[in-house]
Amino acid sequence: MNDQSRRWVLLIALAVMLPMVSCSRASEETRRAADQANAHPVQVDPTFFMTEALVGEVLTEERTISDGSRVMCYVYQTRSVPIEHEMGPWSPGRIDDDKEAGGIWLRDGQVYDVDGPFVRNMAEFYDDPEWKLYRDDGTIKVTDTKEAFEAAARPDVDPKYHNHMVEGRPEWIEPTITTYIIPVQPIYNLSPAPFGRGGGIGVAFNGVNFDPPAPLHAILGAHTIAPFDDAGGHLNPHAGYHYHAATGKTKQIEQPDGHAPMIGYALDGFGLYAHMDGQGHAADGLDECGGHFDETRGYHYHAGSPGSNQIIRAFRGTPGLITTED
Ligand SMILES: [Zn+2]
Ligand SMILES: [Zn+2]
Repeated sequence: MNDQSRRWVLLIALAVMLPMVSCSRASEETRRAADQANAHPVQVDPTFFMTEALVGEVLTEERTISDGSRVMCYVYQTRSVPIEHEMGPWSPGRIDDDKEAGGIWLRDGQVYDVDGPFVRNMAEFYDDPEWKLYRDDGTIKVTDTKEAFEAAARPDVDPKYHNHMVEGRPEWIEPTITTYIIPVQPIYNLSPAPFGRGGGIGVAFNGVNFDPPAPLHAILGAHTIAPFDDAGGHLNPHAGYHYHAATGKTKQIEQPDGHAPMIGYALDGFGLYAHMDGQGHAADGLDECGGHFDETRGYHYHAGSPGSNQIIRAFRGTPGLITTED
């Protein structure tokens, strides 16, 4: 065998062995959890979605999902506009406005009301004298046109809008239709799947999407704040309204056994439940994806606390797809 073919044999051997290595890396505990979850399958229930949120019927069709496999899926189309609560407000207009005039912001797991004094105190809050989000007359610098919003919401914030509150208003957003393709029967995988680039990790019962963590580093790096409203949502120029926190303002399905209420589905078809139950207890024993198993609900997720900027941590199952079109 010459050197060239020896190299090929080595490469092929590696290609064959790598999946085996990653498989055997799954701990005994993970295998047991997978067996348990897959032995108690819980299907997606499309009747949980608010019918007012749907554009047309929910379809049941075989579709290609994120890993290329073809499985039976529910296909939902929605306008991604919340039905049970208003959108906004996000930024107050003046530094003496109270918390009714603004939404919320997150830092280190805590939720803060974005009222006038909060905006005034930003330099102290982040211990950085470069922050100054207001003018000397007490008005707050907010993106107040569609163009300003789009320039400030870019990953590379237009320098003109450094030191601004970044706020999109519903009237600036083109109406879009979002399609969710969710496997009817979620499958517990040994290796968690990371979030896709398209954004979206799941959907509330009102058809609004739950997004991956907001890119706080980029936002704060430009001395901007992109507040969420009290429901944990804000607008993006392309994807429209979406949530970065589950604050209990959307449809919830109470659980007869006192478990935290259900708030939606993750994109892999596993159920998504609130962070806390009615007694104020957070779920324990959550895995690296933010989920755990019980015999009533099967494997399911619990949303992170509203201040955590993290609704779920990764997908336990193979995610479906989200697409948005004008
Ligand atoms: Zn966002
Ligand atoms: Zn639970």
